[in-house]
Amino acid sequence: IFGSERQNSKGINMNIAAESRPFFAKLDSFKDSQWQAAPLVDGQPILCGEERKVTSPQNHGQQVGQVHFADAETIEKAVQVANAGFPIWSRTDVDLRAGAIETLADLLESHREELIALCTREAGKTLQDGIDEVREAVDFCRYYAVQARKMQGEPTTLPGPTGELNELFVQGRGTFLCISPWNFPLAIFLGQVVAALVTGNTVIAKPAEQTNLVAYRAVQLAHEAGIPTAALQLLPGSGALVGGTLTSDDRIAGVCFTGSTQTAKVINRSLAGRDGAIVPLVAETGGQNAMVVDSTSLPEQVVKDAVQSAFTSAGQRCSALRVMYVQEEIADKLIDLLKGAMAELHVGNPALHKTDLGPVIDATAQSNLNGHIDRITKEGTLLFQAPLSSECKHGHFVQPTAVEIRHIGQLEKEHFGPILHVIRYQASQIDQVIEEINSTGFGLTLGIHSRNETHAQSIADQVNVGNAYINRNQVGAVVGVQPFGGQGLSGTGPKAGGPHYLTRFVTEKTRSNNI
Ligand code: GLU
Repeated sequence: IFGSERQNSKGINMNIAAESRPFFAKLDSFKDSQWQAAPLVDGQPILCGEERKVTSPQNHGQQVGQVHFADAETIEKAVQVANAGFPIWSRTDVDLRAGAIETLADLLESHREELIALCTREAGKTLQDGIDEVREAVDFCRYYAVQARKMQGEPTTLPGPTGELNELFVQGRGTFLCISPWNFPLAIFLGQVVAALVTGNTVIAKPAEQTNLVAYRAVQLAHEAGIPTAALQLLPGSGALVGGTLTSDDRIAGVCFTGSTQTAKVINRSLAGRDGAIVPLVAETGGQNAMVVDSTSLPEQVVKDAVQSAFTSAGQRCSALRVMYVQEEIADKLIDLLKGAMAELHVGNPALHKTDLGPVIDATAQSNLNGHIDRITKEGTLLFQAPLSSECKHGHFVQPTAVEIRHIGQLEKEHFGPILHVIRYQASQIDQVIEEINSTGFGLTLGIHSRNETHAQSIADQVNVGNAYINRNQVGAVVGVQPFGGQGLSGTGPKAGGPHYLTRFVTEKTRSNNI
């Protein structure tokens, strides 16, 4: 299914001791490691600005390392180095650029256990999420390498008058600013960076404030893989200072951002206020994702997919299920099964294989989510809360919660955590359900459970979303298989991991030659 040009990376089969034993042994060697991060400008760590202690979301007492935040002087230096590096990097043959990105993919695989340990300890990711994260990062590298070769390998020759050679070239734009989220601190971080790099841009990468250590290791590996130090700069730091300074700087030729819709709008306004060129903004933002379950569906399958979609990664995915619409006829049975399935969830230490949900990212997220649970369970009816294990005492954990509400408007915004809202509907109200989902303005993922093909497809056609999933879960889009990204308030497109993504990172030149 992935074509002969490339294969997606493989996971680890935990049932085969020859695979799992060395994996766990290597992983264990990083259990007490400490990591450092700092701005990397021209490959040099700069120990400037404020120094912060990094602790684990799972246990506040556990230090994972330290990070230096960039100051104004370092930001300026990074722009100068990236701009100076652009002419050489953009003229480097695409095959060499793509080759370096493929070497990076190999290095990610050979450093898999360290990167998983970082994802677990710095971002609170479960083991399975960590494994999937490294795989996705590897897949982005290899996929975009193939796409860049296709797009930039040879100029397109176009028809023209006799004696005239018309050619269309596709080239990098300049220095791209990549601003990435903490929920995929390696995969999305690198997905953005390699898309910009492989097409011939130089990059300034600004990771989320919560996940600098893993980003730092990724940039070190990129340099080791042959990405010139002038082509890739890293600026850990505050969104206000690093993001604010750079999005208003005329020397930035494009921005790639994943995060909240609100921040994307701030960036858009900042870019629009500059004196210089109008530049692209690729933004992947939030969602208010629904699943529609009709009475022909298989309740056991629905529950499995709903639990996975709502609670994997502690609900901290843009794609995660937030609102499940269930047709009245099967609602009671489905809710009973849901409670049973939620009771089985193990919430605890993300480093343990048995854990289904780890912590949420930080204290602010925890208190916002708990505040929402308090409010919405008063307005609606609490269906079930999964218990927290004893491993949760010292971390930012939130109980996976299911609550019945009346309509989607009761959720005034996206709640980025393990909370599933359930709404009952009558068969005759399906048009209203569709309208209600569309009325949020978001359009990221949609789940549909039905054995009536016409019905399922008609819902998929009418709801404005980027990714519709029928009779399966709605998270974990696979690179090159389910290109990922939304419509409306959920993002600008093009879709990550899809064939058109790289087109926003390039500019075109037509050359008509009569020599
Ligand atoms: N691509 C991820 C998925 O399909 C979600 C990415 C995100 O949360 O930004 O689950």
